[in-house]
Amino acid sequence: MDEIRIYPDPILRKKALPIKNIEDQVKEIADRMAESMYANKGIGLAAPQIGMLSQIVVVDLGEGLRTLINPEVIEGEGESVLEEGCLSLPNIEVPVKRMEKVFVRGWNLEGKELNLELFGFPGRVYQHEIDHLNGILIIHHISRLKREILIKKMRKELSKNI
Ligand code: ZN
Repeated sequence: MDEIRIYPDPILRKKALPIKNIEDQVKEIADRMAESMYANKGIGLAAPQIGMLSQIVVVDLGEGLRTLINPEVIEGEGESVLEEGCLSLPNIEVPVKRMEKVFVRGWNLEGKELNLELFGFPGRVYQHEIDHLNGILIIHHISRLKREILIKKMRKELSKNI
């Protein structure tokens, strides 16, 4: 199974490339992503988190698996702040300001265009995963000083587990 890439793995800071054709290889990556997400009890995962620079996200908010190809936040409004975690940043939570309502467009594995209108927490999860495709992590939503403190904390926790 694919290991989740952990910060500071440089791939997490790279921009994922758009998918031109939804071929078997794309479906295979999506399957591997879902497997890693469920194995780690996540609710969302982006392809760079398993080391693939492709614009694919998988999300399961308890209503079944959804795969989105080339997802984009088209527009949004309102804002809220909530603590978020990330499988690539174990043991830390970061308050992240996000839009309260978003329109997300993407394609499913059958090549059908999907337009999602999302509110609150589900919208937050998609914004988090789409950020990953642009090389942005939750720690990039806060000041450098706070980021350094959290990274130290994460490293300390990780070293305890070795
Ligand atoms: Zn994440």
